[in-house]
Amino acid sequence: MSTNYRVENWTWSEDPFYRLGLMSVSRLAIRVGTAESDTCERVEGLWIHILHERPMKNNTIAYRVGWLIDGSGESALSNRIVTIEDAHFGKILADDRRISEHITIVDMSDCTVFPALIDSHVHLVMSGNTEPSMRQNQLTNEYEERRKTIAAHLLQHLRCGVVAVRDGGDQNGDILRYKHDPANLPLPLVTIAAPGRARRAPGRYGKLIGIEVPPGKTLAQSFFTEQSPRDHLKIVNSGLNSLTQFGVESPPQFEKEALIQAITTARQRGLPTMVHANGAIPVRLAVEAGCDSIEHGFFMGKPNMQRMADNGVVWVPTAATMKAYSDYLQAQGHRSDPSFAEVSQQNLDHQLEQIGIARQMGVTLALGTDAGSPGVRHGYGVKMELELFVAAGYRVEEAIRCASRNGARLMGLHDRGKIAPGMRADFMAVRTTPDQLPADLHRIAHRVVAGRPIDMPEGG
Ligand SMILES: [Zn+2]
Repeated sequence: MSTNYRVENWTWSEDPFYRLGLMSVSRLAIRVGTAESDTCERVEGLWIHILHERPMKNNTIAYRVGWLIDGSGESALSNRIVTIEDAHFGKILADDRRISEHITIVDMSDCTVFPALIDSHVHLVMSGNTEPSMRQNQLTNEYEERRKTIAAHLLQHLRCGVVAVRDGGDQNGDILRYKHDPANLPLPLVTIAAPGRARRAPGRYGKLIGIEVPPGKTLAQSFFTEQSPRDHLKIVNSGLNSLTQFGVESPPQFEKEALIQAITTARQRGLPTMVHANGAIPVRLAVEAGCDSIEHGFFMGKPNMQRMADNGVVWVPTAATMKAYSDYLQAQGHRSDPSFAEVSQQNLDHQLEQIGIARQMGVTLALGTDAGSPGVRHGYGVKMELELFVAAGYRVEEAIRCASRNGARLMGLHDRGKIAPGMRADFMAVRTTPDQLPADLHRIAHRVVAGRPIDMPEGG
């Protein structure tokens, strides 16, 4: 006859359910109990009933992965078992000794697995096309056409391993319309956060992504007198940084008081604010006004980085835009002024230097591509931006954190962006080793979103 014991005050960090026989019973605090159930394991002749621990369910799937980059920024771990129960990560184990034989193990031991990616700055309605007439057409054609463009871009993101995008604004408010259009149900696998139309000062930069604050209205009033299902605010507070003269800055578009009023009102409604700002003064005003993120931030300088580190303001540097522009000018050869190509390269180098300094100063960066800008393609741009982060001094694991966990936080997706117990099970598996990333990022062999494997042709 066997005796039933109950185990209490379990202190092991790893799942104790399987292979208890490998552990010493003397290390367990046990007392006599009565229950004997299918969660019991026979250990050295005794039945032990574990309390406070869930058994692995039959719907658990275990993935054996060659290398795991978990989104925390820590170095990749080799040979891990990642379990998924329904839509969430279950356990991360060092080996498969405690996996029941009833649980399916999927072999990805030739793959590096990392959290599904998040692009924190896109313009979904625009493509990365460089042809001016095509770009104009994208904004003036029928909504039905633009709806198809948005859908195609979302698919492109998924193909490239991106499952959430934060939009930076569009002229017609199409992205919010798309998101709430019943014709688009079921919602795409790629989560969208969008601000609708951005706001800019009269006569200033930002026509492609938003509207002017109307005469007689404050910046805050221009947002909140209309009903809009927006997910965040987008304010344009500078011009572009000069593409023809190195380091020339544009003045801010709004006064600090106007920014404070808009950002505070947004926060009272639970909405974060993203601010387009290049140059020292436009960035300073936005940070001091309490914005959640600075977009671009070219030439913002160290004092602003310190302010951002101190106040937890996230920086989305979108260096890919300058890389793409520089590549475009190079490809143009003699058709453009050669000094322009030089300036764009200098702008890029300066931005990479800033990214390296910001990393050392402890600024939180989220990866955003500005996809939809000339030469920056949706989805594909993420690899380019990851490469630029690495060129600026980030380890690949840190760069991936910027493109997963940090982006998820910025979007308020608190159960996303990290491979850890309880988080939503979104991951990508690339058939390569971590030291070949981000170069091999396009070699995605498996996509899993909310615990479900997604079928998509490899490559492309
Ligand atoms: Zn943008």
